[in-house]
Amino acid sequence: MAKITRKPAPRKAAVPKKKAKATATVAKPKAPAKKSLKAIKPWTPAEVHEVFARFRKANPEPKGELEHVNPFTLLVAVVLSAQATDAGVNKATRALFEIADTPQKMLDLGEERLREYIKTIGLYRTKAKNVIALSAKMLSDFGGEVPRTRAEIESLPGAGRKTANVVLNMAFGEHTMAVDTHVFRVGNRTGMAPGKTPLEVELGLEKMIPAEFMLHAHHWLILHGRYTCLARKPRCEVCLINDLCRWPEKTV
Ligand code: SF4
Repeated sequence: MAKITRKPAPRKAAVPKKKAKATATVAKPKAPAKKSLKAIKPWTPAEVHEVFARFRKANPEPKGELEHVNPFTLLVAVVLSAQATDAGVNKATRALFEIADTPQKMLDLGEERLREYIKTIGLYRTKAKNVIALSAKMLSDFGGEVPRTRAEIESLPGAGRKTANVVLNMAFGEHTMAVDTHVFRVGNRTGMAPGKTPLEVELGLEKMIPAEFMLHAHHWLILHGRYTCLARKPRCEVCLINDLCRWPEKTV
């Protein structure tokens, strides 16, 4: 496998100060270098099938880790989970969902009291505002139900493409692929769906993964990234797919 080589840095690091500051604050997932993407041997359909057959054998019914009791609370949990851990969100939502598991109950609770419930979650002020606004919109535009199309879900305050993909997959059984930091890393490292943006990885995975695995593929990849293909120290020695993985730095 070709080794990743770095290009020498340009002589003049002509990055304007302002721009450097702006990029430093945005926590974007690290995409692979152009050269490494080209060097990776493409996966064959049989290899991709084999990977997901192994995931299925090891964990036939994978579950997401965000706690929820219905599609509405799933939607709220996903909105709250941006730049936060599932465990942190669950800690806050357990008590919240006992008293506010519908859009109307959430509106009745009100933004101020909602903030109290979720104040341990990052960006909680903005998220509280969004959850109240999305509850109001669900009541005014969608009869109090979580809408079933991507465009409608994305029209809700605080909900983007990833939220729509999670809700469509988990609440309505659609074959969508939500790309979070774990899926982005696994898609790139394995070489199965290399891409510089979450959208590129999402489309790549959707193209590669056979339909029979798509319902659970999102969870298999998240769990694989969360517990095996760890960001700093991937556990390649216990990895189910280490013989197929294309990552030049894998440790087996
Ligand atoms: S072999 Fe290592 S790098 Fe490749 S998928 Fe497994 S854990 Fe990740």
